[in-house]
Amino acid sequence: MLRAVEVAVTGRVQGVGFRPFVYNLAHIWGLNGTVQNNMDGVKIRLEGEGKDVQSFLADLKSKAPRLSKIDTVVVKESKPQHLSNFTIIESERGGKSMLVIPIDSAVCEDCLREMNDPNDFRYQYPFINCTQCGPRYTLIEELPYDRPYTTMKRFPMCPDCQREYEDPTNRRHHAQPIACPKCGPHVELFNRKAELVHTENPIQEAVKLLKKGNILAVKGIGGYHLCCDASNDQAVATLRKRKKRPLKPLAIMAGTLTDVQQIAAVSETEQLLLKSPEAPIVILRKKETRTLSNGIAPGMKTVGVMLPYTPLHHLLFTDPELPYLVMTSANLSGLPMLYRNQEMVMYLDGIVDYYLDHNREILHPVDDSVLQVAAGKIDFLRRSRGYVPDPIPADYDVSGLIAFGGQQKATFTIGRNKQIFIGPHIGDLENIETIAHYKHELDHLLKWIDTPTQVAVIDAHPGYNVRQIVKDYDFDTVMEVQHHHAHMAACLGEHHVSGKAFGIILDGTGYGFDGNVWGFEVLYGDTASFKRMAHLHYTPLPGGEKCIREPWRNAAAMLIDLHGEEGKNLAKRIFSEKASEIEILQRMIETNMNTIQAGTCGRLFDAVSAICGITMISSYDGEAAIRLAEFANEPLEQSAYDLEPYPYELSMENSLLTFDFSRMIKEIALETLRGKSSVAISTRFHETLVRAITTALVWLCEEQPQLEKTVVLSGGSFHNRFLRKRIVDELNARGFKVFLPEKVPCNDGGLSYGQLVVAAARRRTSKCV
Ligand SMILES: [Zn+2]
Ligand SMILES: [Zn+2]
Repeated sequence: MLRAVEVAVTGRVQGVGFRPFVYNLAHIWGLNGTVQNNMDGVKIRLEGEGKDVQSFLADLKSKAPRLSKIDTVVVKESKPQHLSNFTIIESERGGKSMLVIPIDSAVCEDCLREMNDPNDFRYQYPFINCTQCGPRYTLIEELPYDRPYTTMKRFPMCPDCQREYEDPTNRRHHAQPIACPKCGPHVELFNRKAELVHTENPIQEAVKLLKKGNILAVKGIGGYHLCCDASNDQAVATLRKRKKRPLKPLAIMAGTLTDVQQIAAVSETEQLLLKSPEAPIVILRKKETRTLSNGIAPGMKTVGVMLPYTPLHHLLFTDPELPYLVMTSANLSGLPMLYRNQEMVMYLDGIVDYYLDHNREILHPVDDSVLQVAAGKIDFLRRSRGYVPDPIPADYDVSGLIAFGGQQKATFTIGRNKQIFIGPHIGDLENIETIAHYKHELDHLLKWIDTPTQVAVIDAHPGYNVRQIVKDYDFDTVMEVQHHHAHMAACLGEHHVSGKAFGIILDGTGYGFDGNVWGFEVLYGDTASFKRMAHLHYTPLPGGEKCIREPWRNAAAMLIDLHGEEGKNLAKRIFSEKASEIEILQRMIETNMNTIQAGTCGRLFDAVSAICGITMISSYDGEAAIRLAEFANEPLEQSAYDLEPYPYELSMENSLLTFDFSRMIKEIALETLRGKSSVAISTRFHETLVRAITTALVWLCEEQPQLEKTVVLSGGSFHNRFLRKRIVDELNARGFKVFLPEKVPCNDGGLSYGQLVVAAARRRTSKCV
């Protein structure tokens, strides 16, 4: 039976070798027809035996090229035209333009095989790549994606490379960064004074230096890494000292998956992620082993691991005695990642012993992406290399909307047609270097994406630096979005939830409409608007930011505010060396001097962490909360669920449901003084939050049965594996449909995406703009 169909494929299907793939597939199944790119993706016309068409369609999804990502395949029956062959035809210009910006990808198996083949002319060549792998976004100056518009333009192809480039049957056909030892970039080793080290093989020399305990800067795809032997305590300690990074976990790179399995438990999903073309850092549960230095992730049960993703990385792992390397972004505290050859020596003087450098220029730095698998779902801690700027599909036109994100973990997001582009991770917008970097990357992506600057979307916080940045652009409107509504909308947006839902937002900090710091919120609404249903009782932060850096202050203030003199005495017993400062804190609270009111999950965790004596002063963002969470039982044992929660109260204050944990705080203080273990306290504390939140939601739904029993969870505290898993389980058990952020970080890195979703919804429903 002759069958004829038209197939429309959308997703990442252009610039990834999709048409040659379809062409070959049609030949395999003996089908006639055509394939072409159009503005929406790829369009295929097929004619042949019904069962062959069926087989073709199955293979189309399961055997698609490595770098492609299919969003939809729509098959429509059509009239046979009795075609006699299968051809690739010219692109169609109609339809809404779907923009493709290629992403950077880990080296593929085929290239690795060639690199390890002594007979190949690219044997041990650290820049081998093809259409299915290699750098893209980081080296493209402008679109269209063509060699003269990349940093490869300074390397004219040799005849061998040229032949592969031009041959339509070759896997390097139109691979723009193609290169070989004759014509391409090369690696050089420099000493700490930036003098060239003369050696036959700079990479092998670097391996020797690493084994001796040296610290190297190594240039990768998106910038420089600081690198040392991850098993060498002394080297790791030196790196920490020089980088002034005493405790924050360091990411490592392991030579092979087997090496990863030696040091951490790796699930099937985690394996796939580690080996994916995006090659992110995956946070894994550490095994008890002496292989890794204890200095890698002190006090943590987890370790962030990635596999080698550039050919150069693979060549660093040729010595079996050196299977683990620290690979941490080479940036100075608070500054953007280093990526230019000339700035490297200036900034890294005194930090590194040698530089393993190369002359393929990086135009757009991207940090490594970081994720974990928790509650069975992907949880992005940082969405950058490999994922940026891959668009997220929108439900309706988002052109002209540009969202600027927040102050921490800043990203921007640009809308065009039905595509939403989240920019790379920039960092905290606290200094002029980072702000300049933010604007540089924004200008660049704005030029590529080419969307009108109609609506700027910013956080409602009056003090965020993005307010100044927006002034440098010519927008018709500036729209403000409340911080936690943006978090909520981000989760609604990626799951295409169009109706109303609850948003449980557990977060560090966000500006609330009442001028206080919000961050423990139950919201109800949709992508356009929300109502605040419940929140954490406010407590003072005397000295503001100082309380965040020094959680013991926050803890003492909480005890004083909630329990008066009794609380102050408890604080003095717990923080016995801080008695005079505690008196000052009390006066600041009483006179409301330099004191803001906050009700956030992050600060609640900080306070409990300090009371338990886990972290008095945070040396990195979120340290106190993260380390407290490490004490909670995990993997979760059934016994944790049966714990009697600490006492808590839910009360109505100003027609708002309020979570009151005063009695819990006091009990935790008393338990600590009695010497109760941090594991027991932390686990019971976590479980108390889970019960309180579940109870509040059930109560709200009983009071107002018309409310939808759909819930989205977001905010930075949902990186906490215990909260993630337990809140999902408890709400599911009570008939709620629960969504977690999976494509976009639940932390402030996902804020700009959420802001854009809100702006799009408001524009559509004309509630604003
Ligand atoms: Zn390749
Ligand atoms: Zn060549």
